Amino acid sequence: MGEFELIRRHFQRAKSGPAVALGIGDDCALLTPSPGHQLAISSDMLVEGHHFFPDVDPQALGHKALAVNLSDLAAMGARPLGFTLALALPQADDGWLHAFSDGLLALADDHGCPLVGGDTTRGPLNLCITVFGEVTPGHALRRDAARAGDELWLSGRTGEARLALERLRGTAWALAAPNDEDLCRQRLERPAPRLALGQALAGVAHAALDLSDGLAGDLGHILTASGVGAEIDLAALPVAPALQPLADADRLECLLNGGDDYELLFTAPASARDHILRAGTASATPVQRIGCITAEAGLRLLGPDGRMRPMSARSYDHFA
Ligand code: ADP
Ligand code: MG
Repeated sequence: MGEFELIRRHFQRAKSGPAVALGIGDDCALLTPSPGHQLAISSDMLVEGHHFFPDVDPQALGHKALAVNLSDLAAMGARPLGFTLALALPQADDGWLHAFSDGLLALADDHGCPLVGGDTTRGPLNLCITVFGEVTPGHALRRDAARAGDELWLSGRTGEARLALERLRGTAWALAAPNDEDLCRQRLERPAPRLALGQALAGVAHAALDLSDGLAGDLGHILTASGVGAEIDLAALPVAPALQPLADADRLECLLNGGDDYELLFTAPASARDHILRAGTASATPVQRIGCITAEAGLRLLGPDGRMRPMSARSYDHFA
């Protein structure tokens, strides 16, 4: 199977999207955003050994590679238009490619985000996706837009992906129910990008980002960019049943520093509360107020004992 046959067989589909004037096959794809909209663009690279294990299920890998990129569009409040895929493969394994493109393109179909081009080369397994979306000017949910007095909100809940990762690494953390293993693996391997919620928050919420490296560290990016601080009420954090049997410190580690959550963390004025709750219901996404944004810099945690503790807002750094 040559390069062009590989692309035709696994990545070229008859189905396209309304914004795609020209898809796979020419020197460039042509996208037509809605008049007056801004393009939102994001790339994410996944490298074997760093972002996934060599024996990863290729179907799940295809899903996750696109999901993490769509999550960036969600965090900006953008609507997806299409994406490109740059792929380095050690060999053209038909079965592997079939499963990979199946996971990738099923999620693309779910969110109306067609594959419009890319590049394919031989090399150590490595994939880079670039997504293109659109957003009304002034409505994008930027990291630098949090204001003192905003409420801090979280979609879904954090920590299950981290629990799955620790179990894969062999950490001796107990499970409450046997079925929790699968639920947590799903969270790790098949995250659901919160696109409908993100779009419903555009123009309403102030700042937002998606949680890839852990709640506390990622919140730190909003605080730095916006020049503000925050308080998190620990009692308000949703806790998955799977995390219940963990020791308090391990549970807190999962909730605040877990990583791979792909939930939205956002700030909004109190006047937006009803709108946000309706957006959560309309998008079938749980939303929870977990704290507030303060003029005083730094991140503080309000414990169940009613005491406020400072916390370092650090996040995962590939070069640290
Ligand atoms: P070029 O020589 O201009 O780089 P290629 O021969 O690499 O073009 O690719 C031919 C066509 O196939 C282009 O439209 C390109 O966007 C598309 N393409 C290549 N690899 C992929 C891929 N992995 N997924 C989707 N489209 C791809
Ligand atoms: Mg090329």
